[in-house]
Amino acid sequence: MKLICFDLDNTLIKSDKAQAVAYNKALTRLGFRPKDSKFLASKFGRPREEIARILLPKASQQIRTKLIELHNKYLINETYKYAIPIKNAIQTLKELKKNYKLAILSNNTHKNILCLLKGAKINKNLFDLIIGHDQVRHSKPYPDEILKAEKLMRHKADYMVGDTIYDIIAGKKAKVPVISVTTGPHDKKKLARYRPLAILKDISYLPKFLSNMKEKNN
Ligand SMILES: [Mg+2]
Repeated sequence: MKLICFDLDNTLIKSDKAQAVAYNKALTRLGFRPKDSKFLASKFGRPREEIARILLPKASQQIRTKLIELHNKYLINETYKYAIPIKNAIQTLKELKKNYKLAILSNNTHKNILCLLKGAKINKNLFDLIIGHDQVRHSKPYPDEILKAEKLMRHKADYMVGDTIYDIIAGKKAKVPVISVTTGPHDKKKLARYRPLAILKDISYLPKFLSNMKEKNN
């Protein structure tokens, strides 16, 4: 059975509000001003250390680490409730589950992923494997999460599906074809520059795309 690896944020769920409110609560708690939620959303998908550096360019490493810790705390305890599934995501995952092994590879921690799935009311049992950034040395755009999934599943990943250029870069490094979706901050033009296998409007187009690919290959 083929293995599809999914990014989480802006691919399966919308967690901009959950993430932004958690960052702003953390910033406020540390005595900084909250940031505009659109500005915050444009930074999501990057490694969290990089987000902390963008949000607090002049702060010490210690304060940035504290920001990340507080963000995690607020997300897990309160703001995960704001997560919502991408339109038709649940139905699409159920359909794909019949013919594919499914994995989530996300730059959230494993615990955060479970909370966000719960918030978005997506059953975690739809997935054969869930890997967070805390389970690997380097998060996307490094290929570590994909390589770990392949090792654990004892199976080459057949596709990586994600909304950002970081998903494409990680897929290329792991030699896995990437299918991009335009439900995140990166538009079609930006994604196309990194040459994914395909760019779909959202994941509801994935089953059709995959069955067309199968026909072409047969
Ligand atoms: Mg994403």
